[in-house]
Amino acid sequence: MIVAIDGPAATGKSTSAKKVARELGFIHLDTGAMYRCVTLAVLRNQITLDNESALSQLLDGLDIRLKKLDDELVVYLNGEDVSDEIRKAEVTSYVSTVSALSQVRNALVRIQRNIAKNQDCVVEGRDIGTIVFPDAKFKFFLVADDFVRAQRRQLDLIAIGEEKSIAVLVEEIRQRDFLDSKRSNSPLCKADDAIEIDTSKMTFDEQVAFMVNRVKK
Ligand code: C5P
Repeated sequence: MIVAIDGPAATGKSTSAKKVARELGFIHLDTGAMYRCVTLAVLRNQITLDNESALSQLLDGLDIRLKKLDDELVVYLNGEDVSDEIRKAEVTSYVSTVSALSQVRNALVRIQRNIAKNQDCVVEGRDIGTIVFPDAKFKFFLVADDFVRAQRRQLDLIAIGEEKSIAVLVEEIRQRDFLDSKRSNSPLCKADDAIEIDTSKMTFDEQVAFMVNRVKK
């Protein structure tokens, strides 16, 4: 069974997907982390995005692994723990540009479908309910007020030693949503059959309980 959780940046997808997966006994697949890994690899290898063959070589050699350790998601890129690195400003500001490339999306969607082929999964991202798993049994679309989202992102950044003002974060979040929803390939949008949840005024436990109860019912 697939539970799809989509929505704009910083709406609480990752944190709640992780807990929903744990409560249901499902695998948690954070597809944003995968796009972030590709972006980090592109930056490190100084690949220009119009260089299709270099990009293709990079994608072919990419080994992304998502593992749960002590209840935390640990992300490995070619064997290296990049969990913090992929959340930093440089990757975050470039990830939407890299994610818009069909070459990148095709490669990652293939991996995502493969992972979820034989196991129950909670999959979070932007295009899960629309493109990757249009037949997902449950689809949730999380939204939240811009200011609340910026506050949440600020706390995430503090945890990895970075600081930004709320005003800057609101701007960055809006810009990323704009790029993610306006791209031609698999834009961020709510599937017709997805349940929308506004998490602005919900506690984290309430978000999780809402989704888990829906699935269990
Ligand atoms: O969820 P997170 O904020 O980590 O995602 C980072 C970026 O990865 C998004 O802004 C988007 O550009 C891209 N992404 C995507 N499709 C997904 C998941 C993430 O394009 N399914």
